[in-house]
Amino acid sequence: MKMKKCILFTALFLFIFARATAQQSNQNKIEELEAQVAELDKTFNVSARKYVSAYFDLSDEYYTIKDYEKAYTNAVKGLRLDSYNMPMQYRAAEYEINNQQYDLAYPRLTYIIEKDDEQKTAKAAKKLLKKIPKDKISELEKLVIQPMFEKSILVVFYPGVEDVYKSAIAQRIEQEYKLTVKTADFSEQENTGNLRNNWDDYLDETVNDVLSRSSEMSLEQILNAWNLTLSDLETSEGKEAFLVNLFLMLGYPEQDYLDFKAQYEDQYDANALINQVKKNYKIDSDCFGILAVTAKDIYSGSENNNFLFGLSSGNTAVMSLNRFVKYTDDKSIAMKRTVMQAFSSVGHVIGIARCSTPLCARAYPNSLAEQDAKDDVLCQTCINNVNKLYASLKQ
Ligand SMILES: [Zn+2]
Repeated sequence: MKMKKCILFTALFLFIFARATAQQSNQNKIEELEAQVAELDKTFNVSARKYVSAYFDLSDEYYTIKDYEKAYTNAVKGLRLDSYNMPMQYRAAEYEINNQQYDLAYPRLTYIIEKDDEQKTAKAAKKLLKKIPKDKISELEKLVIQPMFEKSILVVFYPGVEDVYKSAIAQRIEQEYKLTVKTADFSEQENTGNLRNNWDDYLDETVNDVLSRSSEMSLEQILNAWNLTLSDLETSEGKEAFLVNLFLMLGYPEQDYLDFKAQYEDQYDANALINQVKKNYKIDSDCFGILAVTAKDIYSGSENNNFLFGLSSGNTAVMSLNRFVKYTDDKSIAMKRTVMQAFSSVGHVIGIARCSTPLCARAYPNSLAEQDAKDDVLCQTCINNVNKLYASLKQ
């Protein structure tokens, strides 16, 4: 009897101890992953896989301790980068169903049912779908794009586009537009037709401005102090040396000068890139058209504008990540901007009308601030337009 009691106590103790340890290790893991995710939100140049697994691992940890809200939040963050993760899509949908957010759950579940190759999650999704009240379903069908996976779009990436953006662009287009996305890595660099760089113009303007405002005497004194001569100011090197010294004299550190100069990158003519892509890639009969993606800064040679996020011509479009990534350290912001531009460009490629709903991903932004104010989803007007287009093609 005594012996049995002793074993029982030991077993009980071990059980409690094991539970406490498991909870402790779970807590440690959560803290570790939270730190990683916070860091990853801000860090550049990390691989897509590393990013995504941190969000999904954190979601798993919260799911284990039944903190479903945080499990959901992290699953959704990860899905923005990797929407192919069907178990995570399912987890998000399950949470949304439990909170009666049917409009969010419905497109996820139909997406899983259409796209899950292994069919395991698809089966579970079909079951979960039945939890949505029947009268709601017909309403929801109108709210989402009805699939057209028999048609495709070709996304061509110029060299230098990071993998994390490549996969997010391809997957998010496929999920939002419900069509097949084919991708290709372009072996050619951006066409340099009409290549422009405003740096030399800026140098000329600034140096001439300073020269026109200073007397000969004071100018000579300044140049002497900087080890420069008047004839130096006729070369670009001399002008640059002049500007660096000007920055330093005004109290700015040299890094400010370098950052300032870095803004004046080579700009490529988007029209030239569209023509280049058209020449190299054929559009099959089941393909709507081509979206080319470049990391270089672009403008329109024909309109001579400052810069462009994207440009389209017929069923071919080009978009640039350059200004989405250049001015932020927050990768998730850069990603959201990129995905919205991709949605906007794809709309042009498949041929739906421009959008005027202010917060739609496809609304025209005049600046990064306007781009950031938008949602990374299509508005109801755009969804209706896509559905009309797809329906007309099925007839
Ligand atoms: Zn819209």
